[in-house]
Amino acid sequence: MRLRNITGAREVIGDSPYVVQEAVQPLCPGRWSEIFGNENPVRIEIGMGKGKFIYTMAKEHPDINYVGIEKYSSVLLRAVQKMDQEELPNLKFLRMEAENITQVFGPGEVDRIYLNFSDPWPKDRHAKRRLPSREFLARYDVILKRDGRLEFKTDNRELFDFAAAELEPAGWKASTITYDLHDDAVLMEGNVMTEYEEKFSAMGNPICKYIICR
Ligand code: SAH
Repeated sequence: MRLRNITGAREVIGDSPYVVQEAVQPLCPGRWSEIFGNENPVRIEIGMGKGKFIYTMAKEHPDINYVGIEKYSSVLLRAVQKMDQEELPNLKFLRMEAENITQVFGPGEVDRIYLNFSDPWPKDRHAKRRLPSREFLARYDVILKRDGRLEFKTDNRELFDFAAAELEPAGWKASTITYDLHDDAVLMEGNVMTEYEEKFSAMGNPICKYIICR
């Protein structure tokens, strides 16, 4: 998601109490219970965009801690503004490049990972940058607890097929896989729509989803 550069976005993010600041990030591994002040499970969305999904999840599940990760300040700003309107104690944000995810979460510290409508990086030579690639799965393998799971939604069939083919070589397996999420009453129970999900499903695109574990 790219927004025009918003003047002052970086400054707002830099002053926000909801954002775990870059200077503090190296101190985070192993300390998330301390950051939230409780022992509740920590679930993260990587590439959260404006944060509608994670904000709604945090509001609906006050006994779970959520961390939203986004690399662009101008996008993250929208999520911070939602928190200004109504602050949720169980939600924090990280402005960072997800490649460095093992530098902010300790081994097994994350209970669940959400990837929603990740950038497709359609050129073969950019496959490593795709968030469901085997390179990223290896990073998730470190931070995700043993019986934790990862959930991925997208309307991009090519990206989804790529992601599904990455599972076996990376040592993961799918417990659930659908090519039309919105047509599956069981999987739709508790489904929180992301911004992209609303937009693309309204255009008639079916939404693919997998749930994977090791
Ligand atoms: N999850 C949201 C937004 C999807 S767009 C939704 O479903 O509506 C993908 C988002 O992921 C963009 O905002 C992009 O900036 C962010 N993103 C992509 N690659 C990233 C990376 N490597 N690290 C952090 N954020 C990333």
